[in-house]
Amino acid sequence: MQTLAWTELPSIKVFNTLGRKLETFTPFKPGLVRMYVCGPTVYDYTHLGHARTYVAFDAIKRYFRLRGFNVIHVQNITDIDDKIINRARSEGKDWREIVDIYTKDYFEMLEKLKIKVDIHPRVTEHINEIIEFIQELIDKGYAYVAPSGSVYFEVDKYPDYGSLSGLKNPEEWRQEVEVLKEKKKPYDFALWKAWKPGEPYWEAPWGRGRPGWHIECSVMSSKYLGRQFEIHGGGQDLIFPHHENERAQSEALFGVKPWVKYWLHTGYLTVHGEKMSKSLGNIIPLREAVKKWGAETLRLWLLSAHYRTQLDYSEDALEQARANLRRLRMAVEDLRKIIGSVTPPAKLTDREVKVITTVEKTYMEFHNAMSNDFNTAKALAAIMELVRIVNRDIVPGEMYVAAVRAYRVFEDFNYVFGVLDDVLYGVVKLEHEKMVEDLVNLIVRVRGELRKRKLYDIADEIRAELRRLGIQLYDYPGGKTVWRLERT
Ligand code: AMP
Ligand code: ZN
Repeated sequence: MQTLAWTELPSIKVFNTLGRKLETFTPFKPGLVRMYVCGPTVYDYTHLGHARTYVAFDAIKRYFRLRGFNVIHVQNITDIDDKIINRARSEGKDWREIVDIYTKDYFEMLEKLKIKVDIHPRVTEHINEIIEFIQELIDKGYAYVAPSGSVYFEVDKYPDYGSLSGLKNPEEWRQEVEVLKEKKKPYDFALWKAWKPGEPYWEAPWGRGRPGWHIECSVMSSKYLGRQFEIHGGGQDLIFPHHENERAQSEALFGVKPWVKYWLHTGYLTVHGEKMSKSLGNIIPLREAVKKWGAETLRLWLLSAHYRTQLDYSEDALEQARANLRRLRMAVEDLRKIIGSVTPPAKLTDREVKVITTVEKTYMEFHNAMSNDFNTAKALAAIMELVRIVNRDIVPGEMYVAAVRAYRVFEDFNYVFGVLDDVLYGVVKLEHEKMVEDLVNLIVRVRGELRKRKLYDIADEIRAELRRLGIQLYDYPGGKTVWRLERT
């Protein structure tokens, strides 16, 4: 007799940049994952390279949630920076205008990619906290005010500097060369940048100016996640100096070690082997890519490589992702039909038990891959094997239990990958609902016009008709009309 065996899920392992090794994930507080990801400097459109990092951390978050963790995901917006000021200057715009344009683009792109961040703090809304943080660093002797009114972190006061990046030789630490003269050491970094004419500024005890880049993430992460938290992430480019500096100033001020338990960094999205970046002039705006490929294909392609590897842009690979997506969708639709047309059996056949066992194997392979430092590439391979099982082994009209089980595995897969919402949960229907909304808005606008022209009888007739359909209109003084569905 064939029997069914159910296995336990493996514990989650993460590759920690700090120490460069795989570690079993153990949060500070059981069940809680506090995750801070360095978000965009909003001076240009979101590109595919950004999407690589955002989608990677979105999948990591989703996997933790799938495994029952409570995840708080903070992703900041850098809305004051040299790059923003320069862009505003070159376009003859106010810097806030630049910030508004690209912040809007960023939010729209996250929504398209189905990425839900819990908290999105902005630097300019945390200036007071930043000033307090810097003042405390000065009071404790970790920072000094230079003659210009800029404030620097004194790297020599933090003995563990270089551990995160692995750069232990001070020769390799040089940063912010332009202000070398007033720094005690060439590798000290700015916490506060003194005002220069024509730049935005805030008043601080040591003079007007604006925050340096690194300080913002220490301040905002601790504000929303506490003085110790589990995960800090971003692209590989941020390991040095950004994250090294964040770590130094936070551990210095808070007197805790580790400040962050696990440091996770994504590999680059490249074009012909070169990092996709504005400065190299090789960016593909995310908006264009979404239009061409659709969010699901893009997500599937981005997750078809492990997050720490380099991923090169390739239309062939995207075509492959599109084809895989189609096969995944069809498999789910087939399962739906099978589940809808068969009744649960009184007894499982040996043949079905065998099929269920192979389905379970893909389920375990999916979880083994995801638990092993979120290996989405291997996890996807397991699910594509499940597609083959559905096509080849699950007999329509017969194998209800195998079909239900396979369907559940696709649900788990989708919980992390986010590419099958439409077939699994009928977002297609929601598209119709959106159309109904647009139509009602149109009718309401036309009715508003009629009222303006004093054609009240037709306007009232429309209102009555809509009421009969369960749509109630509320007219407010000034001509504004709001509608609501009122089903009885
Ligand atoms: P930025 O606005 O350049 O600071 O980037 C915002 C986030 O996207 C950071 O976490 C970066 O590390 C990441 N990022 C930028 N370009 C790429 C790329 N080509 N590949 C992967 N991640 C990137
Ligand atoms: Zn940061």
